Amino acid sequence: MKKIICPNPKCDFTGKPSKKARGSTLVGLILCLFFLLPGIIYFIFKSGYRYYCPNCGIQVGNQN
Ligand SMILES: [Zn+2]
Repeated sequence: MKKIICPNPKCDFTGKPSKKARGSTLVGLILCLFFLLPGIIYFIFKSGYRYYCPNCGIQVGNQN
């Protein structure tokens, strides 16, 4: 995702979104240590990033 158009009509931001990791790597590692399978499942579901509008903070999309 290179450029976003903010879905918030009051904001109307166009440009680069801010990116945040979806899951906590630490939580995934702890799960892997104690329960291998839930840890792996956690990594599968929590991999990827969420994108936010840097102007108003609304979530604009997911990408794996
Ligand atoms: Zn916005």
